[in-house]
Amino acid sequence: MSIQAEKIEVPASMAESTESIVRYKKICKSFDEVEVLKELDLDIAPGEKVAVIGPSGSGKTTLARLLMTLEEPTSGVIEVDGQPLWHKEVNGELVPADQKHMRKVRSNIGMVFQQFNLFPHMTIIRNVTEALIHVQKVPKQKAISEAKQMLDKVGLSDKLDNYPEQLSGGQQQRVAIARALVLKPKIMLFDEVTSALDPMLVGEVLGVIKDIAKTGDMAMLLITHEMDFARDVADRIVFFDEGSIVEHGPPKEIFENPKTEKLQNFLSRFL
Ligand code: ADP
Repeated sequence: MSIQAEKIEVPASMAESTESIVRYKKICKSFDEVEVLKELDLDIAPGEKVAVIGPSGSGKTTLARLLMTLEEPTSGVIEVDGQPLWHKEVNGELVPADQKHMRKVRSNIGMVFQQFNLFPHMTIIRNVTEALIHVQKVPKQKAISEAKQMLDKVGLSDKLDNYPEQLSGGQQQRVAIARALVLKPKIMLFDEVTSALDPMLVGEVLGVIKDIAKTGDMAMLLITHEMDFARDVADRIVFFDEGSIVEHGPPKEIFENPKTEKLQNFLSRFL
């Protein structure tokens, strides 16, 4: 993946930017002629749980895909823990980053997707230890012990030696959550993690995420259509429409006192 070769001046505020774990700064993203994100600014504080809601097509997944480095911004800067993600600072200027830099910065982020993407030929315990051992270079026995603890936390300590196909969709999604969490990311990104699940299995996955949110100190960015879940789990709700943040605030404010007509209309669909 490449990025425009133009150089960007490092803003004066860069040195002070580490108080956010993730910072989108004036992010624009277009696909051909279509502008999907419009000068988006969004800061997530360490430990903060932020839920993003909004109509289909409003740009929520694009927001996540930029952070996962699956899409590159048309312009603007994304920082993770004070480090630019798509750029690298060289002699006070931001230049396009190489894959090594992006991998390093991205290692602060745990990601869980709609599709669980488990390795089908590996047991559950191996799915969870794989990156610990081969990427983080944790000794095997320690990795197994940490993975077991994490699988216990998501209620799957009896499935260590099973293969993904032997598990329900909800169980597989809980493995995917354990696999991301065991790497101790500073922020967890959950993109519509229950959309592909049978409705009967949604509750168990949301329950696990709620537990993690209450007990874990990592930040979370949760893109969701589940309004009750967003209200329960988030410190702040961000309402997106047509590629911009229309309103954001604490759940009580957003759900009980929506100020804009756009948010009022959106929420009325869930009554
Ligand atoms: P949401 O997650 O809120 O449903 P998305 O971020 O998936 O919204 O999509 C926002 C808009 O961007 C939609 O109009 C969608 O069609 C468009 N879009 C997303 N990805 C691409 C792509 N790879 N190519 C062209 N258009 C895209």
